[in-house]
Amino acid sequence: MTDKTAIITGAARGIGLATARLLSERGWRVVLADIDAEELDRVAPTVPGAHAITCDVSDPDQVAALIAEAVDWSGRIDALVNNAGIADFRPMGETDLATWRRIMAVNLDGVFLCSQAAVPHLARTGGAIVNVASISGLRASTLRVAYGTSKAAVIHLTRQQAAELGQQGIRANCVAPGPVDTKLALAVHSPAIRAAYHDAIPLNRYGREDEIAQAIAFLCSDQASYVTGQVLAADGGFEATGVGLP
Ligand code: NAD
Repeated sequence: MTDKTAIITGAARGIGLATARLLSERGWRVVLADIDAEELDRVAPTVPGAHAITCDVSDPDQVAALIAEAVDWSGRIDALVNNAGIADFRPMGETDLATWRRIMAVNLDGVFLCSQAAVPHLARTGGAIVNVASISGLRASTLRVAYGTSKAAVIHLTRQQAAELGQQGIRANCVAPGPVDTKLALAVHSPAIRAAYHDAIPLNRYGREDEIAQAIAFLCSDQASYVTGQVLAADGGFEATGVGLP
C-alpha cells in the first residue's frame, strides 16, 4: 500500500480507466479527470480510492481548478498521467483548420497545461509525469496528419519536460501504445486498418487496455526511479519492425 496520489486524465473509460483501476489496486489514491461528466459519475464509484473531477484539459481555467481540487482532496500529487486524447484519421488535404486545432488543443495543449499546473506539487513529492503518446507519433502515415503530429509533439514535449524538470526531482516519460480496442480506436480504425495492423504487429493482435496500463503504472512507480525522458512503446513489437503505419 502507498499514500500516493495520481491524477489521470481521460479516466472515464479506455486506457485511462484501466490505469486508474491498476493504480487503485496498488493502493494509490486516484483522481479521475474527464470531460465526460456522466460517464465519470458512473465509473468513479467502481474504483476504490477514487475522486472524480470533470475537466476539459484544453481549458486553462478548468485545468487550474482540477489541480486545485485534487490537492485539496489528497494534499499531494505523486503522478500525473496525461492520457486524455481524441483522434482523427484524415490526410492533410481533407483536414479542416477547426479539426486540426481541436486535436492540438486536447492532445498537446492538454499535456502542457496539466503538466504546468501540476509541477509545483510534483516537485514536493519527487513525482512523475507520464504522457500517453502513440505509435502514430513515431511513424508518419498517409492518414492522421493532425493526430500523428500532435502525438509526435507530445513525445518531444516529454523530452523537454525530462530535461527541464529533472533538477526538481520530477521524471517525465511517455508511453506510445499500439492499437487498442477502445471507443477511440473503434471510431477511426476501418476494417482495412484493422487487418493491416494485425499482420504488421509481430504479436498479431491489438493490445489490451490493461497492458498499456501496466506500462504507464511502471513509469509512475519508484521502480522507474532512474528512467526519464523515455518513450516506452507498448505496441506488440510494431515499432521494432520498421513497417509503415496502415
Ligand atoms: P477513449 O476514447 O476510450 O478514452 C479517452 C478519454 O479521454 C475519454 O474518456 C474521453 O471522454 C476523454 N477526453 C476526450 N477529450 C477530453 C478532454 N478535452 N478533456 C478531458 N478528457 C477528455 O480512448 P483511449 O484509446 O483510451 O485513449 C487514451 C489515450 O491513448 C489517448 O491519448 C489516445 O490518443 C492514446 N492512444 C490510443 C490508442 C488506441 O488504439 N486506442 C493507440 C495509441 C494511443
